Amino acid sequence: MTMLENQTRRCIYCTEILPFNLFNSEHVIQNCMTEGAGIQDNLTLEPSEFASCVCIECNSYLGATLDEPFGRDSIEGTLRFIKGKKKRKAIKNQHWNRVRLKSDGNAGLITGAESKMLFDGTEMFTRPNSQVQIRNIASGMVESFEENRFEVLIERQQEFDFSSLTLIASENLTDSQWQMLKTKLENLLSKIGKKIESSSELKTFGGVEETILQGNYDEILLRAIAKIAFNYMTVVFNELDSSVIFLPGLDEIRAYIRHGTKPSFVAVEKVDECMSALSTMSHSVRLQCAMNETMVASARICLFNQIVWQVILSRDLEGVAANTQSGHQWCFDSEKCFRIY
Ligand SMILES: [Zn+2]
Repeated sequence: MTMLENQTRRCIYCTEILPFNLFNSEHVIQNCMTEGAGIQDNLTLEPSEFASCVCIECNSYLGATLDEPFGRDSIEGTLRFIKGKKKRKAIKNQHWNRVRLKSDGNAGLITGAESKMLFDGTEMFTRPNSQVQIRNIASGMVESFEENRFEVLIERQQEFDFSSLTLIASENLTDSQWQMLKTKLENLLSKIGKKIESSSELKTFGGVEETILQGNYDEILLRAIAKIAFNYMTVVFNELDSSVIFLPGLDEIRAYIRHGTKPSFVAVEKVDECMSALSTMSHSVRLQCAMNETMVASARICLFNQIVWQVILSRDLEGVAANTQSGHQWCFDSEKCFRIY
C-alpha cells in the first residue's frame, strides 16, 4: 500500500469519512455538457491529498439521479444537439417529459403547436405531434392538446370555441392509428354534444430554428444545477482551505443536492440577465461570497450562453471565505476550460 491508500477523505455530499480508494473524479459541469460536448480539458474534483472531493457512491447516485435527467430532459441538454455538440442521431434517446418543443408560428404552423425534434440521417428537423388545436375564447389564443390531454377539452369546455377545433395528425401515423385517434376524440366530444370541425395531416415543417423550447425545471433539474455551483465552490475552496466546504452553513444546500431536502431559502432561480457579451459559445460559472449582514455565497451558471441560473449556496457562511470571487469559462472554440477571474 502506498501512503495515499492508507489515507481517508471526507465526501462533500454525504460527509462520510472513507478510504481514499472510494473516491473518484467528478466533473464540475456534467460530463455530457463538457467532455461529451467536445471540451478537452475539464474542471474536475479529483481525489488528492489536499482536496475535498466526491465519493464513488455519491458520484454514481448523483450521476444517475440528477445528471442523466439534466442531460436528457432539459433545455440545456437539448441545446447540445441544436448547437451541434452531440451526435444528432442520438436525439432519439432524448426524453421530452420536461422539455416541450413548440412551433414559433413562422413555418405555416399555428404558434404553440407541440412538436418533436428528429434526425433523418442528414439534418435535424421538427415535426408536429398529433394534437388538437382550439381557440380559447377569453384570450383569443389557440391552445394545443396532445392525445394524453384530450380530457382537458371536457374539463374546461366553457373556455373554448369548439367551432375552431382542428385535429392534427402527425405524418407518421398509419391510417388505422389516425382512425383510432379520430374515434377517441369523437367519442369524447360526443359526451358534450360537440364534434370535430376540421382535421388535417401536417407534414414536416422547417428547421429546429422554428421552434421554441419550453422547460419544466422540477426539483431534479434544479438540484442538478445546484450541484454545478457546489462542485465549483469546492474547486475554489480547495485552493484556500479544503475544510471550508464542510462548514455547517453549507449543510442545507448539501442536503438539497444529495437528498432533495428543500432548503429554508430558494436555492435555484432563473435570473433575467445577459451573462456577458460573449460571441463565442461557452459555459460559464461565477462564484461570489459577499459579506452583508450575514455571508451570502452564490453562483451564476450559464450553459451554452442560454439561461442564467442563480444558485444560493449559503445564507450564513462563516467569514473564512469572505470576498471570495472566481469565474471559469468552458469555451467551445478553443475547446478549453479556463479561469476568467
Ligand atoms: Zn459521498
